[in-house]
Amino acid sequence: MRQPDGLPLICDYRNMSVIDKLKSARGPLFTFELLPPLKGHSIERIYATIDRLLEFKPAYINFTSHRNEISYKERSDGLLEKRITRLRPGTIALSAAVKYKYNITVVPHILCGGFTKEETENVLIEMNFLNIDDVLALRGDPQRGSRIFIPEKDGHRYTAELVTQIANMNKGKYLEESLVDTSPTNFCIGVAGYSEKHSEAPNMLSDIENLKRKIDAGAHYVVTQMFFDNEKFFRFRDQCKKAGIDVPVIAGLKPVSAMNDIRMLPQTFHIDLPDDLVKAVQKCTTDAEAREVGIEWASMQSKELIKAAVPGIHYYTLGRSDNIARIVEASF
Ligand code: FAD
Repeated sequence: MRQPDGLPLICDYRNMSVIDKLKSARGPLFTFELLPPLKGHSIERIYATIDRLLEFKPAYINFTSHRNEISYKERSDGLLEKRITRLRPGTIALSAAVKYKYNITVVPHILCGGFTKEETENVLIEMNFLNIDDVLALRGDPQRGSRIFIPEKDGHRYTAELVTQIANMNKGKYLEESLVDTSPTNFCIGVAGYSEKHSEAPNMLSDIENLKRKIDAGAHYVVTQMFFDNEKFFRFRDQCKKAGIDVPVIAGLKPVSAMNDIRMLPQTFHIDLPDDLVKAVQKCTTDAEAREVGIEWASMQSKELIKAAVPGIHYYTLGRSDNIARIVEASF
């Protein structure tokens, strides 16, 4: 059996960690990200999306993580009732189900926000028992309705601290220091990078210094926030190198898929859209037309990134697979 890029199979490629795949690949890896289904919906939708994309041999699949959200419901007496709910639970169980159904490497995301260090340790232990050795470590956004990120009382404020906790477990160091004869874990850790700067960072330089902190704490690779202008990614890659960040930087792409995306994406993800893309979407009269523009733009981006020898492209699917299939078919 051979790897998708033609390399002989030394160990089982399907279950290698992300960093081993990146190191042994002869070309850019194709990877994609899925959201767990909304509460009350079936896992079959996830399987249908994966089935559609499997023919393009994804190197691994990411699964997003979602914290508890607070909402308020008006009661009949006019008072407000506070409710805490998680709209998309099940990241780890879903990752395990996909790993064992498809025999593929999976990368669940884990968050600082909404979790204590103890809860995080327990999630990591569950992953270890399930043989899930890859993780994307993230802080999470501020709670809906809040402008600042507030960590749990005994949780992490920044992702670099979360990475340190995972790296410690890889050395057999758990939170309870009196534990003896512990079993070290073997997590491969990814972290987020921002080619247009994280929205809360005062400037690009301090954001890159933060990225360096995450790498120094033990992260093995970076995945970028979505971007629509490759030049910004190339500049970011150069800035990373200059700052001594020498791990692979995977490019994150999200195809425009609806007319409203030109308003929603900058608001939600704090990114800029190039003028040509905005004008092309503004000419569309239906979402179907906007989707075609999105496919063409992301295919153009993908081809250029592949030519520039990026280590991998991570597609944000937001549950859609047909547009991703067409982009990958046209580009890889
Ligand atoms: P951090 O690295 O902690 O950085 C957050 C901010 O703090 C930055 O502005 C940074 O510059 C600053 N900072 C860091 N350390 C310091 C310090 N010591 N002193 C001062 N400032 C500092 N969100 C989800 O909720 N679920 C997901 O599944 C999810 N998946 C994602 C996948 C990818 C590939 C990406 C790019 C983002 C994802 N996000 C997800 C969004 C992410 O949680 C947010 O962008 C979040 O606001 C920042 O996360 P981070 O890990 O980059 O934070």
